Amino acid sequence: MELPPAEESSNMAEVFSGKYPKKIRKPRFQLIDREQLSWQALNVDRLISEDHPARAIWEFVGNLDLSGYVKNVRAVEGFAGRPLLNPQLLISLWVYAYSQGMGSARAIERLCQHDPAYQWLTGMEVVNAHSLSDFRVEHEEELKGLFIQILGLLNAEGMITLEQVTQDGTKIRASAAPDSFRGKDRIEKALDVAREHVKAVDQLSEEETGKRVERARQRACRERKERLETALKQFDKKRSEGGVKDNEKPRVSMTDPEARIMKQPDGGFAPSYNVQVNTDAANGLIVAVGVTQAGNDLNQLTSGVERVQQNLGITPKQVVADGGYVSRDNIVEMESRNVDFIAPLCDEVGKAKSNYAVRGISADYESSRFIYDAATNSFQCPQGKLLPCKVKYEEDSKVLYKYCANLADCQNCAAKGQCCPGNKKSGRAVFRTEELPQVIKFRQKMETESAKEIYHKRSQIAETPNLWIKAKFKLRQFSVRGLKKVGMESIWACLTYNICQWIRLCWRKQFVAVNAG
Ligand code: SF4
Repeated sequence: MELPPAEESSNMAEVFSGKYPKKIRKPRFQLIDREQLSWQALNVDRLISEDHPARAIWEFVGNLDLSGYVKNVRAVEGFAGRPLLNPQLLISLWVYAYSQGMGSARAIERLCQHDPAYQWLTGMEVVNAHSLSDFRVEHEEELKGLFIQILGLLNAEGMITLEQVTQDGTKIRASAAPDSFRGKDRIEKALDVAREHVKAVDQLSEEETGKRVERARQRACRERKERLETALKQFDKKRSEGGVKDNEKPRVSMTDPEARIMKQPDGGFAPSYNVQVNTDAANGLIVAVGVTQAGNDLNQLTSGVERVQQNLGITPKQVVADGGYVSRDNIVEMESRNVDFIAPLCDEVGKAKSNYAVRGISADYESSRFIYDAATNSFQCPQGKLLPCKVKYEEDSKVLYKYCANLADCQNCAAKGQCCPGNKKSGRAVFRTEELPQVIKFRQKMETESAKEIYHKRSQIAETPNLWIKAKFKLRQFSVRGLKKVGMESIWACLTYNICQWIRLCWRKQFVAVNAG
């Protein structure tokens, strides 16, 4: 057989396109043998680079006092028993996982089998998902202590000043669907069924429950029963919170009874928790975190400042927050604590204008056009009629005075259509507010350029940690259920954020300096 010329046989494109003469010989390829057994020498320490964040996390966690995690450990040296997983390893695994946007214990178990960073941390061992998930939500006090210890270390490095602290709330979705909310009757019925189920499962023989699957089923039944019992308690709590009207039937989630329906940034509503984060402006580190079931931030300022105080032993000098935290109570409270409170002024003029528009009052007959006479404690209307003081009362830490015109004066007035078109049984009323000195001082302060400038920088400092936690750590929905566990997951995310900032601001610089030298 005649072979093709050498230059033609090297043109593989022609060979594969079928243009080449049929008599060509088939090309030979390297064999892929997936049946073979292969051994490789592996240096575990070389699995990751010298400047890998897993090394920094391991180093940082190694400097913490973890004795609280081992105080009840029974497996000790010299005695029989299975050795426990080192808390330094479990903490490092969770911190590294959160920093990579991973909040699932099962996913971490899988990653331990092939991901070099996880393999380096575990020393090529696979950590069981149950051990990981139990560790995350057990040891609540130790976890809070860990967060404070980390703040102590960062404070010692001069990274926290508490000169200026921001507070901001972010809604994170609960691990519950919007359609899991039910009325009390449905939950009581479901609880009866769950109790019967638990009783039936408890009566299973030891042989049957010895099986792993049966034990898991038993645990699931008990957890469902406990969840429904918690759900029943939440009905009274919801009423006491004041979010339910007298004629309204409250509904509670059967999946996560402590979650509340909250407004989301996209305008929708979803079962969520309100996470309050305090950030120190010096280096953007989180100095306190708390979780609440409240749908708004109005009553969260004082508790946020108290958490900062508890964590660092110092009250922040200045607290910057958005308009959701502005109330007379908060202004007075911050003044009493000697905290410089910076927040935007409420647009009362704008609010009043829209109110006038709704009531059909023209601009010439707004309250500001009525003249106050302190000597007689009365107002004079634009038509010269007198409005004496009728009522004095207190509301939202302020004193209010109500002044009313005579009904007959208004009914016979040519300007009634512009002044009080809707009033049929009473004359026009105007109000005067006697402001607290603290509120007057706050208003004057917030009119100054320096205060406006401070407030202008708030969003960058306050919203960065929230954005980081949601976008980088992918914590848009909690992996755990219940206020306590959700609070713990929030602490995990915040301490991870602080360690990431330490890596960025300190560890990397030191690493570069050492290696450059
Ligand atoms: S309606 Fe009554 S309050 Fe208003 S301008 Fe006339 S008299 Fe005065």
